[in-house]
Amino acid sequence: MEVTRIDHIGIAVRDLEEAAKIYRDFLQLKVTGIEEVPDQKVKVAFIPIGDSEVELLEPTTEDSPVAKFIEKRGEGIHHIAFRVKNLEEALAQAQAAGIRLIDESPRPGAGGARIAFLHPKSSNRVLLELCERTD
Ligand code: ZN
Repeated sequence: MEVTRIDHIGIAVRDLEEAAKIYRDFLQLKVTGIEEVPDQKVKVAFIPIGDSEVELLEPTTEDSPVAKFIEKRGEGIHHIAFRVKNLEEALAQAQAAGIRLIDESPRPGAGGARIAFLHPKSSNRVLLELCERTD
């Protein structure tokens, strides 16, 4: 498997605009776009930094996984996404290695990415995402 970078860090927030302030006003980063991802029931704000980005995730429904996360654990870091060259191959290798998967096949992520989540039980309770992009 070829992992090329940390693609993004996903942060669960109640309010995108509120949460974006420290990144925009203090860290002087730009929010380059806001996109709704119906598959995950979130609105995502993209804040690129170098080869990676911070993604702020605001739930759009009460049954959104991010809403449940906030309810249980409060706002905070939700997941870390690793960029892979070939997502199908990475998932097959994860399965072969006995790593528990949340997604056995790729699904659509924000920004045109294809993504899959690994189960946090396999990674010290950190939710890991594998992410493939065409660029
Ligand atoms: Zn993500």
